[in-house]
Amino acid sequence: PYMKKHNFFAGPAILPAPVLEQAAAAVSDFEGMGLSILEISHRSPQFVAVLNEAEALVRELLGVSDDFAVLFLTGGASSQFFVSAMNLLNEDQTAGYIDTGAWSAKAIKEAKNFGGVNVLASSKDGNYNYIPENIEIPSGLQYVHLTANNTIFGTQFAEFPETDAPLVADMSSEIFSRRLPMEKFGLIYAGAQKNMGPAGVTLAIVRKDLLGKVKRTLPTMLDYRTHIAKQSSFNTPPVFPIYVSMLTMRWVKAQGGVEAMEKHNADKAQLLYDEIDRNPKFRGTVANKASRSLMNVTFEPVDEADAQPFLDACEAAGCVGVKGHRSVGGFRASIYNSMPKSSVQALVDVMKSF
Ligand code: PMP
Repeated sequence: PYMKKHNFFAGPAILPAPVLEQAAAAVSDFEGMGLSILEISHRSPQFVAVLNEAEALVRELLGVSDDFAVLFLTGGASSQFFVSAMNLLNEDQTAGYIDTGAWSAKAIKEAKNFGGVNVLASSKDGNYNYIPENIEIPSGLQYVHLTANNTIFGTQFAEFPETDAPLVADMSSEIFSRRLPMEKFGLIYAGAQKNMGPAGVTLAIVRKDLLGKVKRTLPTMLDYRTHIAKQSSFNTPPVFPIYVSMLTMRWVKAQGGVEAMEKHNADKAQLLYDEIDRNPKFRGTVANKASRSLMNVTFEPVDEADAQPFLDACEAAGCVGVKGHRSVGGFRASIYNSMPKSSVQALVDVMKSF
């Protein structure tokens, strides 16, 4: 019943068909309780079990040790832009930021309200169409913040920079898409609505020893330690988004985990980039292959007059969400974990016959 269309939207985005089926069933009757998941207490044993399984799956999929807390929060990745700085950066300290797009720029703007910000590198000069290389990172920084995958501009860090300071990474549009060197990170955060689940929950994985060091008074809800102490249930957590995220993580595990996702994603991205590079009607917006995102593939028509006819041809073939972000134009195909290769092939077929 699901997967009627090939869904290339950037987020909220495609979810695995079996996950949607299980979520729909839980809305009718959750675990034979005779109640919908939408109407049960977040303190019921049934939901506490969901929360525990969700945390265990994050730990298992990404290899997250007990040095880190795994939190399910609200407020979106946009709130993490300031919550991360409030919790990790004093007024008299400096954090490094790498500016690779609109989301990085927003994180920089928010952090400046709480401490010193040293922008270590920026690709703004190229309309963010590359990832800066060989970035000089001084010592003495509290942390180095980066946007691992730039949803709008179609770029992604293939490797994470070497630093003395822990990395703080916005992984909203790539979480669970590849294996991670966890030892490099102090904090990872991600809005769920691309690779993890539906909108409404934000994942934070935070190294516990970095907390409790800032001098300012933190509002209770914005202090990571509050949510650690109460296992993400200090207040009512987003029950349904957490449930659907848990189902999605179960699905990732059943596919072979993030290692299998990594192969599947590289394979799909290659299929699409090969066609973009081969087809004389299209051009990739990210010329440097090492900077290309495996999640959000951005390209443009060589002849601007082809833009609307191509989008029409996509629609006619059931390929939706291919229009680029309004700040970039052109086309963007988001091909997250749950996007099957057959859907990418459907888009490639439209390009070939266009
Ligand atoms: N960071 C990145 C990389 C994003 O793609 C987005 C958009 N979903 C955000 C942050 C903002 O996320 P949210 O809407 O959850 O605040």
